[in-house]
Amino acid sequence: MLECLVCTGSDLHVILDKPAVRVWTNAPDDKNKILYPCMLLQCTSCGHIQQNVDPSLQEILNNVYSSANAQLSTVLGVGNWGTARAESILKKIHVFGKKILEIGCANGYILRHLHEKNPHLELTGIEPSGENGLIDGVHFLRAFVTSSLKLRKTFDFIFAIGVFEHVMDIRDTMRFIVDHLDQHGKLLFSVPHTESLLETGCPSLFSHEHIHYYTSSSLARLMHDFGFYIHTIEIDRGSIYIHASRIKTTEPAAPVQLYPQYQQLLDEIIAMFDSTAHHAALHGVCNKLNNLLGWSSVKHFDLADNDETKVGKVFWGVPVKKPEQITNERLIIIPSVFFQDIKEKYIALGYGGLLSSL
Ligand SMILES: [Zn+2]
Repeated sequence: MLECLVCTGSDLHVILDKPAVRVWTNAPDDKNKILYPCMLLQCTSCGHIQQNVDPSLQEILNNVYSSANAQLSTVLGVGNWGTARAESILKKIHVFGKKILEIGCANGYILRHLHEKNPHLELTGIEPSGENGLIDGVHFLRAFVTSSLKLRKTFDFIFAIGVFEHVMDIRDTMRFIVDHLDQHGKLLFSVPHTESLLETGCPSLFSHEHIHYYTSSSLARLMHDFGFYIHTIEIDRGSIYIHASRIKTTEPAAPVQLYPQYQQLLDEIIAMFDSTAHHAALHGVCNKLNNLLGWSSVKHFDLADNDETKVGKVFWGVPVKKPEQITNERLIIIPSVFFQDIKEKYIALGYGGLLSSL
C-alpha cells in the first residue's frame, strides 16, 4: 500500500494528475526524449506532497542521476547563470565548527569555495555521480547517502542544498544525519518553496526528479521525528533554507494545509497560456515551460534565454535565441521568481512588444 514517505500515513489524495511530459533534466532535445506521466499525492495526516515512484520511474531517474545531466538547473559555477546561482547560495551557508559535510555536493563547487576561504576546515562531500579522494582540499566520496553508510566520524555542520526533494527514502537519509551530526551540531538544508506554488496553481511545481514537495507541516513532522528543532526558515529565489539542530527552541505551529484546488488553479493558468502563447516568444528554458508545453496545445513559438549555456541549442524542437534577437509582438516571461529582472533586461534592450508573465 502507498504510504507517506515522511509520516508513513496511508491517507493520500491525488492533487495533480496530468498527461506525460518529458522528464526534465535541463538538457537539450538530443539528450532528453523520455516521456512520463505526472501525478502528485498529498498526505492528509502531515500535509506532505509526493510522487508515487514505481519501478519504471525509479529506473528513469537512476539513469538521469548516473548521467551528466543530473541537475534540473545549470550546474553551479558554470556559465553566467551557474555563477549567479552559486553566489546566491553561498550567501546562505554560514559554516559552523570545523568538521563540515555536504550531502549531494554535485561538482563540489561550494566545498571548494569554503576551502579557499578557510583552508583549516575539514571538508567532506558525498555525491553519487561524483569523484573519490582528496581533491582541492576536500574529501570527496562517491556514494548514495543511506543509513548503512558509516563514515566513522561526526560533523559539526551538515548541509544539503536542493537534495531532500530528490531522495526517495528521506527518513533513511535523516537516520544517516542523526548518526553523523555532533550532538551540538547544526543542520542546514534547502528545498523548493512549494507552498506559494501550490496556492497559486503555478506550473513550475511538478518535476519528475522531485519525489518530495515539503510543506511547513511536513517539514516540522520530519524534523520532530528525528529529534531536530527548526530554528529559522529563510525564503530566497524560490527555495527555502531550513536551519535546524537538536537544541530545543519554540517552533511556530505548522497546521496541516491541504491543496485540493491546486489542479483547478493550474488549469486556469494553462488555459491562459493556450490563449496567448501561440506565435509568441517564450523566455526561460526551464522545467515550468516543459510542463506548460506538455499540458497545453501550444506548438509554434520562439524561444529565448539569457543562460549562455542554452543559447543555440534546441529545446522542444526550437533553437534558443538571445534576448536581443527577439522581435515577436508578444513575449511571455516564464520564470516568475526572476520576472522583474528579466523584464528590465528586455526594456533596456529596447524590446517594444507586449511583455507579460504567467
Ligand atoms: Zn504524511
